[in-house]
Amino acid sequence: MKRNRKVKILATLGPASSDEQMIQKLHEAGADLFRINMSHASHDVMRTLVQRIRAVEARCGRPIGILGDLQGPKLRVGKFAEGKVDLKVGQTFTLDNRDEPGDNTRVFLPHPEILEAVKPGHRLLIDDGKLHLKAEKTDGKSIVTTVVAGTKISDRKGVSLPDTLLAVGVLTDKDRADLDALLATGEFDWVALSFVQRPEDLAEVRKIARGRVGLMSKIEKPQALDRIDEIIELSDALMVARGDLGVEMPLESVPGLQKQLTRACRRAGKPVVVATQMLESMISAPVPTRAEVSDVATAVFEGADAVMLSAESASGEYPVEAVSTMASIASNVERDPHYSSIIYAQRTPPEATGADAISLAAHQIAETLRLSAIVCYTSSGTTGLRAARERPQVPIIALSPIVQTARRLSVVWGLHCVVTEDATDLDDMVNRACRIVAAEGFGKPGERVIISAGVPLGTPGATNMLRIAYIGSDGMSGV
Ligand code: PEP
Repeated sequence: MKRNRKVKILATLGPASSDEQMIQKLHEAGADLFRINMSHASHDVMRTLVQRIRAVEARCGRPIGILGDLQGPKLRVGKFAEGKVDLKVGQTFTLDNRDEPGDNTRVFLPHPEILEAVKPGHRLLIDDGKLHLKAEKTDGKSIVTTVVAGTKISDRKGVSLPDTLLAVGVLTDKDRADLDALLATGEFDWVALSFVQRPEDLAEVRKIARGRVGLMSKIEKPQALDRIDEIIELSDALMVARGDLGVEMPLESVPGLQKQLTRACRRAGKPVVVATQMLESMISAPVPTRAEVSDVATAVFEGADAVMLSAESASGEYPVEAVSTMASIASNVERDPHYSSIIYAQRTPPEATGADAISLAAHQIAETLRLSAIVCYTSSGTTGLRAARERPQVPIIALSPIVQTARRLSVVWGLHCVVTEDATDLDDMVNRACRIVAAEGFGKPGERVIISAGVPLGTPGATNMLRIAYIGSDGMSGV
């Protein structure tokens, strides 16, 4: 299956998209990888979804990435005697450590670390910011607040603390159990970490993951922005998690932050996913709004690696339509006459490494000679990432002997990944590349490709060679 699209589509699975037939339809409509949201999926459901995705992958013959999204330290208030209460703007309302049903004067906050960390003047945003409280007095056991805006609060609503650096790690006990369960399947390619605040947050997860999955940091806390370069350096990918980011930061700052994060990742050559409410109205309508089309298009014009669907594909009424709409917007943007100049204008110079110099050279040669494809042999995935960082117009075919590498690269801009054995010698390397380019529909006999590889063959991190080759009439290399 060949996609005529550079940007990838990450579709969240859920009740509307959990049977195998539906997962297959989503893949055929354009989903390149799938997200399983551990905030909602039990371990049994997670394992069943993984099995179904792999069955679809086996049938379709394309590597499909799987991302497990950990819930993270999502903070919530306790319960109310009546399930909910109405408050008044200006009144006092207290959050405390008394595990008793709340009323319109107080509620239990089952997070001692917040009671310790919040200081007078800090904002507490409840229920995605619908209720805004301001801390007035704190004593480590309770926070006395004033209601600034909004009036409603009910059982177990989420609490966001944009002004407070929490002394909590990125993993809760639930996350640790979820991480163990998803690593035990051996089938996950990516883990997304919610509410990353500092670079140190990544260390614990990296220790547990031991390279078995890529780490994707979800950027949704203002504190993460203060040390974003270090966080990018320690992450394998980033997600612009606009849902919670838009609660913790002024909504109008989110588009600028999206641009800043996308560019920083492109500079670093790390994949970046733009997420949340991209086609929100398609949860209940078969067509998107003009503004949503424009939002998806903006992410594509910025050169994001992937765009994500959440409830649209997980629980909406039109999951397949949402994926095909996203695919169609992306393909149209990529055919727009302004697209390549916008993408090119945002590119950053290569770093002083062999892989970058070779990727730049491959890009230039492919465009100068109008070659059909850039083929890169990549075993760890690094060469594939550096080739994609160049954002060439020419298709990039990433060949890897390791299926996990091919699956992990499914999130990366412009990479068409194929699993193939390591080449035995240089002739085999060239022939194999030409045969795959022809078989996958990226080049015809008589056309030329450029191949990058590392010699000695099969040595990870040793990309040091470029070779131009003709595709022969038998799909092998010819003259
Ligand atoms: C977000 O907040 O934008 C996000 C992607 O996270 P979640 O869907 O887990 O809330």
